[in-house]
Amino acid sequence: MKSLNRQLSDAPTTIFTVMSALAVKHGAINLGQGFPDTEGPADIVRAAADALLDNRNQYPPLTGLPELKQAVARANRRFYGLEIDPVTEVVVTSGATEALMASLTALIDPGDEVVLIEPLYDTYLPVVRMLGGVAKLVRLQPPEWRLPREELAAAFGPRTKAILLNSPMNPAGKVFDADELAFIASLLQQHDAYAVCDEVYEHLTFGAARHIPLMTLPGMRERCIRIGSAGKSFSLTGWKVGYVSAPAPLAAVVAKAHQNITFTTPPNLQRAVAVGLDRDDSYYTELAGDLEAKCRLLTTGLEEIGFSVLPSQGSYFLGADFRGLGFAGDDVAFCRHLTQAAGVTGIPFSAFYDRSGPGAAGAGSGAPDHYVRFAFCKKQSVLEEALARLRGFVEAGLADVPETRLAAVD
Ligand code: PMP
Ligand code: GLN
Repeated sequence: MKSLNRQLSDAPTTIFTVMSALAVKHGAINLGQGFPDTEGPADIVRAAADALLDNRNQYPPLTGLPELKQAVARANRRFYGLEIDPVTEVVVTSGATEALMASLTALIDPGDEVVLIEPLYDTYLPVVRMLGGVAKLVRLQPPEWRLPREELAAAFGPRTKAILLNSPMNPAGKVFDADELAFIASLLQQHDAYAVCDEVYEHLTFGAARHIPLMTLPGMRERCIRIGSAGKSFSLTGWKVGYVSAPAPLAAVVAKAHQNITFTTPPNLQRAVAVGLDRDDSYYTELAGDLEAKCRLLTTGLEEIGFSVLPSQGSYFLGADFRGLGFAGDDVAFCRHLTQAAGVTGIPFSAFYDRSGPGAAGAGSGAPDHYVRFAFCKKQSVLEEALARLRGFVEAGLADVPETRLAAVD
């Protein structure tokens, strides 16, 4: 029989699915795939349930329900001083995943170059390549993940159509600062390029770190497609409601991509997300404060056990260097062993690098292979139990922790 789409048939199943399945198989605490283990706010869930029962279950408008589009515009003004026209400059999508696909589809013609920053979220490269785009990768280095300005400038050229910028960044927990953003903005202007801004963790920043949308910088309003996700802002990752804010000419083409991907997004969820976006500032402050405390708890605990933890300024994630534990093997082997032997699951950091590059067996060419990404968007008791398991595992010389020593977690 004829072969199927080569890029897809050759691609592995996403690491998040692989590791979550392994966690279930071994009864491990899942600090891998990034999803909270608590329900989102009860009033938002109630609004969705009510909306299911009020006879508005047919197709909503292509670009989203007016009440959600207006709420997205209000949030842009409230948090960032951005004036966005709810009618022509907002497109509601089925998650940020679809927003990314639709935005890149709107921008890329085959042969266009797209600048991507490693480590990167796992859909970016496959989507750019499926669209016939040419990825130009620039790598940030731990522990500081500073923007390598010369390399970034060298990645831009006459064929550059766009940069895909993720801040706060998954998996590095980096939040790009004003200077770095200004440098990126200058490159975009110099090369007449666009930016797809994946800002799904926009409200999840810690300490002094503040999220600044690239779109707020001078000259960037017309060049940026800004993407948010209700999944992350309201701890409801299964809902898959995303929202794009973009200048009208760009939003119109994003909408045309959306019409061919999903066409619309469930109306009841859209209406509930509109309720969520209008929640007062204290909701957003508490969301970030709660996560920051969990990040601190996990960081301190991991350090005590012997990991060396990279500081996280935002997102659900931190990176932990496991070389101090004396494990002989790479991050993929470590994460598998940890799941099985310690009953705790993380994601190997090397999954966030291009694996198709020259010499890329597992970790991609020269990518770090000694970090685990742990998600801390979990109940405190679960994080504490995970730390207890890890401590037992290290004390046992990285050997299996007997089942009897693995306490049950709710
Ligand atoms: N971008 C990043 C950086 C993410 O971590 C995720 C993970 N959920 C997404 C996009 C996708 O978001 P959604 O669930 O809204 O599709
Ligand atoms: N964004 C989540 C993460 O990085 C996972 C989403 C998914 O499984 N596709 O863990």
